Amino acid sequence: MTLHVDYLVGGAGAMGMAFADVILHESDKTFAIVDKRPAPGGHWNDAYPFVRLHQPSAFYGVNSRALGDDLIDKVGWNRGLYELASKGEVCAYYDRVMREQFLPSGRVHYFPNCEVNAQGEVVSLVTGSSIEITPDKYVDASYMQVQVPATRDPDYAIDEGALCVPINALPKVAGPNLTYTIIGGGKTAMDAVLWLLANDADPQKIHWVRPRDSWILNRANIQPGELALKSQESFLRQMTEISESGTPEEMFARLNSAGILWRLDPEIWPSMYRCATVTPAEFTQLKRVRNVVRMGHVERIHTNGLELTGGEYALPEDTVYIDCSADGLAKRPAQAIFQSQRITLQTVRFCQQVFSAAFIAHAEVTYKDDAKKNEICNVVPHPDTDEDFIRVTLANTLNSIVWNQDEELMQWLVDARLDGFSVIRRTADESVVEIGARAVANMQRFLAS
Ligand SMILES: Cc1cc2nc3c(=O)[nH]c(=O)nc-3n(C[C@H](O)[C@H](O)[C@H](O)COP(=O)(O)OP(=O)(O)OC[C@H]3O[C@@H](n4cnc5c(N)ncnc54)[C@H](O)[C@@H]3O)c2cc1C
Repeated sequence: MTLHVDYLVGGAGAMGMAFADVILHESDKTFAIVDKRPAPGGHWNDAYPFVRLHQPSAFYGVNSRALGDDLIDKVGWNRGLYELASKGEVCAYYDRVMREQFLPSGRVHYFPNCEVNAQGEVVSLVTGSSIEITPDKYVDASYMQVQVPATRDPDYAIDEGALCVPINALPKVAGPNLTYTIIGGGKTAMDAVLWLLANDADPQKIHWVRPRDSWILNRANIQPGELALKSQESFLRQMTEISESGTPEEMFARLNSAGILWRLDPEIWPSMYRCATVTPAEFTQLKRVRNVVRMGHVERIHTNGLELTGGEYALPEDTVYIDCSADGLAKRPAQAIFQSQRITLQTVRFCQQVFSAAFIAHAEVTYKDDAKKNEICNVVPHPDTDEDFIRVTLANTLNSIVWNQDEELMQWLVDARLDGFSVIRRTADESVVEIGARAVANMQRFLAS
């Protein structure tokens, strides 16, 4: 029997779910949602046990259903800021969205443990048999290629006798008097270091391989609800600093002084920007690790140290190596999101994947032709370098200017749970619009030079 649906969604991760949710609420369309994994939620199913969202739960999930209780944490290094869902909460949330909302709607057919293959066929990974589905449109909800350490092998060699595990196994391998070497300069590595320090590991026994240092965002500046005013002030300050800077270097220095972009080492000018976000308390903790290995990428782990692109680094034989080098935020080539019968989910606001998927879904049901939809949904690819900070901040601002001109769209944004930022921009007055225009001109000049 052949199943006909309006949309076949390849991937029940956060983006596929956020996309389907908006269309289910704003139309009477039908879906087949297919995923290789046995449960919705994508990479969260394979995340490390102590992972939490990096940004407030209030902005995450699907638009129609709150995640968490909008509480401000009273304990821990996120104290004073809005709650961050744990892995368990995120997975349970997507399970409930599927079981309590999507499936009872009668408009969603869910195929876990199935793959959309290169020919576009849906094949069961359990039986190998094909499932006949004829969609009007295919939605690629896996184009962003999120990688997590548990689901891929590191791209360096490991000698026999050396113990290297993905971050998922850190709580299992941790023990008294061990030396730890954290491999990776991104947010996953920061989480590994923070877990060790939260469990009273000696910072001197931690070595941290950071091929590049990162500009880091302050989570206190990305807050909803009663803390949104500070986020608004920070956003305006950011635009002001950019608008008053003569060079990119001056801009980064000003944003650094303003506490908008942090760096862990005042002697090192970061060359990486990938939206890593921590709290002031976490930032203070991370700076306690002084054994930072800046000798390029790891090529091989020996039993007595590391072979890196920049040379050898000796370590004790009892060292446990923690792999945090997976690319959770791959910088994929941007492509038109709407291409006739195919929709390729990407970010239209940087590092806001679920918001982006929801926004794309709203554009799909609201506008008629692909040209208009693509004009509204201009892709803002994931950032990777310091220069990308300018690129994505500019692209975000230009998208907001386009969205601002559409009254209906602006109202949708202000009402959207997953959009924590349009309310902030909406309340901006004329002088702010002028500052924004100067910031845009400066960013364009920086990128052209
Ligand atoms: C540790 C971590 C914390 C994060 N915290 C936040 C946060 O706080 N706020 C925020 O906005 N963002 C956050 N992000 C970023 C982003 O929101 C998440 O990574 C998001 O879950 C990405 O979802 P996705 O659907 O794009 O990808 P995935 O989770 O990778 O989902 C894609 C799905 O597609 C399936 N698939 C792939 N190919 C096929 C195929 N051929 N056939 C069938 N199925 C297929 C896969 O099995 C997978 O389940 C975080 C990311 C990480 C890694």
